[in-house]
Amino acid sequence: MSEANVSAPPSALVQIKGVNKWYGDLHVLKDVNLDVNRGEVVVVLGPSGSGKSTLCRCINRLETIGEGEIVIDGKILPEEGKELAALRAEVGMVFQSFNLFAHKSILDNVTLGPIKVKKMSKKDAEEEGMKLLDRVGIGNQASKMPAQLSGGQQQRVAIARSLAMHPKVMLFDEPTSALDPEMVQEVLDVIVQLAKEGMTMVVVTHEMGFAHKAADRVIFMADGQIVEQAPPDEFFSNPKSDRARDFLGKIL
Ligand code: ADP
Ligand code: MG
Repeated sequence: MSEANVSAPPSALVQIKGVNKWYGDLHVLKDVNLDVNRGEVVVVLGPSGSGKSTLCRCINRLETIGEGEIVIDGKILPEEGKELAALRAEVGMVFQSFNLFAHKSILDNVTLGPIKVKKMSKKDAEEEGMKLLDRVGIGNQASKMPAQLSGGQQQRVAIARSLAMHPKVMLFDEPTSALDPEMVQEVLDVIVQLAKEGMTMVVVTHEMGFAHKAADRVIFMADGQIVEQAPPDEFFSNPKSDRARDFLGKIL
């Protein structure tokens, strides 16, 4: 039997190993190491410009990395090619801006990926799409166009659209930052529900109440580095670094 057959699957679903990234002379990720375990919710906090979005984009290979490697469920993320498309489908991403297709219905937005990329039949994709829309509380809006929905509803569609690809891990980059305040909670509720169902997630957010409640682990980034990581109770009650204390002092 070859070695590959006997090795156990790695416990960490996402392994970020010694990742460095530069934009020109700007060193934006500095030797970042992070394992995200199956079913774990990792919340990433940190001041603006600290590299949180860049880290998410590297996990999804929307950005190339300068040094290091990123492993998703035991497979190294390649730079490009067919294999990258397949691996990228395993990593769902939800951005601050919802990026729905403006000229397609809500249901079409959700079924497009499964039909085009996963070669699912329209009927199966629509059946599953409806279930997903129900799950995020928008089943009754399926035939509407994105512009007819509120920001919070559109973001929930974006989440359903990601889930339709059956990702192994979901990345959320400030998913509520562009929303009117009254719509923040409905989106956070959907994310909390996903966490309860066991989805592995990396969530960049400035919502400290959510971070405290939903995170298994808080990662604090500053200047492209992971400065501190701890369970939320510990991080919020006893931040160890000056940078984290300063950050919490400003935000809480
Ligand atoms: P955060 O999400 O924590 O606010 P970002 O990852 O967006 O931080 O940015 C990290 C640093 O990289 C910032 O200094 C930002 O200005 C810079 N940066 C981000 N994207 C680019 C880019 N495409 N080209 C050059 N610099 C960038
Ligand atoms: Mg950002």
